[in-house]
Amino acid sequence: MFSELARHILEKLQIDEQASGVYADRWIEPTGGRILSICPANEQPLAHVLTASREDYELVIESSLTAQAQWRTIPAPRRGEIVRQIGWALRQHKSDLAMLVTLETGKIVTEAEGEVQEMIDICDYAVGLSRQLYGLTMPSERPAHRLFEQWHPLGLVGVITAFNFPVAVWAWNAAIALVCGDAVIWKPSPRTPLTAIAVQRIVADVLRQNQMPAVAALCVDETKEVGQWMADDRRLPLISATGSCTMGRHLSEAVARRLGRSLLELGGNNAVIVTASANQPLALRAVLFAAVGTAGQRCTTLRRLIIHETIADEFLARLVAAYDRIRIGDPWDRQNLLGPLINQGAVDAMQKALQLAARDGAKIRCGGTRLDRSGFFVRPAIVEATPGLPVLREETFAPILYVLRYDSLDEAIAWHNDVDQGLSSAIFSDRFADVEHFLSVNGSDCGIANVNIGTSGAEIGGAFGGEKDTGGGREAGSDSWKAYMRRQTCTLNYGDSLPLAQGVEFDL
Ligand code: NAD
Repeated sequence: MFSELARHILEKLQIDEQASGVYADRWIEPTGGRILSICPANEQPLAHVLTASREDYELVIESSLTAQAQWRTIPAPRRGEIVRQIGWALRQHKSDLAMLVTLETGKIVTEAEGEVQEMIDICDYAVGLSRQLYGLTMPSERPAHRLFEQWHPLGLVGVITAFNFPVAVWAWNAAIALVCGDAVIWKPSPRTPLTAIAVQRIVADVLRQNQMPAVAALCVDETKEVGQWMADDRRLPLISATGSCTMGRHLSEAVARRLGRSLLELGGNNAVIVTASANQPLALRAVLFAAVGTAGQRCTTLRRLIIHETIADEFLARLVAAYDRIRIGDPWDRQNLLGPLINQGAVDAMQKALQLAARDGAKIRCGGTRLDRSGFFVRPAIVEATPGLPVLREETFAPILYVLRYDSLDEAIAWHNDVDQGLSSAIFSDRFADVEHFLSVNGSDCGIANVNIGTSGAEIGGAFGGEKDTGGGREAGSDSWKAYMRRQTCTLNYGDSLPLAQGVEFDL
């Protein structure tokens, strides 16, 4: 049954049992190594992927440089039209691609469909953006002078993605970078190479059908070699990297050494504050989705619940009961809300974190055990903790929710901000002053601050990203496009004298 489903989806997306993981201006036969993609829900193999050698990487860079030189001269709205067609092709493949995301990551199918929808949404957004890459005009202090700025494409953008959003994160970067006139080289997570190959095929077909240069390339590696080559490569003015804080630290050091730009989307350690005035049923639903959705494997997953002590007992009792009702199982079965973790390492990390928490006096209210079946399934855990526990500072990429009880809002906000990461945050409150306090300069220190909705599930229209160890990058909407372009400030003199700025005189 499973193998039939997997074979069917791989066939529809034209992925062979041994697929090439390198696309330059065509699929090439890579000479690096070979990796096996497995389904985390049953540990069954899906397909082998051939990975890039250094020579293959050089081919990709050369063809992308050639392609970008042509692409950047094509008017931006015309580039937008190509991205519109990419969005349309993704619409046509939405259900197959989503099922492949489910098979390769273990994400439940409704969330996988949401991920592909996010790709479509960002393509739509980028189409409009292709006519709005505005520069400003400023009044010049000199007579007969015009002062303005314009935006040019950067060149080649290296996009390094994590396993947990194996396709959407590429689209956030690529749809915008392409309308900006850049070419994109994608290094996906070696844990999810097949979804990347499927997307590459769809996008390459659109470019080819339009006789457009190959401005989207793919370079799968065995662990992180291609990512390291990219980080050291001056031909890539921007590296956009999504993954753990550890990865971000290594990568950004290498990029900074060559004075390149990096756009970092790293780990989160997100919290929700539930005040005494909160609409509790609303808060309960939001906490459940944010803490358990995607098996706790979102960067925006809720990891810490900071709840007012007067409502904590009742809220927790309801939450534990709700956790009990969550159906865990095959992610392609729409009745299930919780699929597996990505691999054995993730199961081990979850159990280690729970052991450390228990050692330090925390109380495990529910969950934490592995299911007795194939695949990396765990029961989501709720842990009653006290402020200051070392484990609270870590992002364990698994469904563990730590609960802290607070007395004053100032104390809650202090605990909230007392972690190294600064991605997403939320408050549940019907008290205006508490909400404003949370959103004020003395409130949440995160890149995302929500009110009466959870920490996960951002829309593409806003700029997405976080502060502190989350890396400071912003992707998707708002003015995030500026990261993919270079700004040029121009002063044009249409008079016949040469006045100097600041009144400086320099006459012979
Ligand atoms: P990871 O750090 O293990 O790997 C991410 C990517 O970086 C992979 O492609 C990997 O091969 C590559 N990589 C790793 N070390 C590298 C190095 N030294 N140089 C170059 N490339 C390197 O992360 P993961 O386990 O795949 O994903 C989970 C992590 O990603 C979590 O920490 C999660 O919070 C984070 N994440 C963040 C966001 C965000 O937008 N902030 C989104 C998704 C995931």
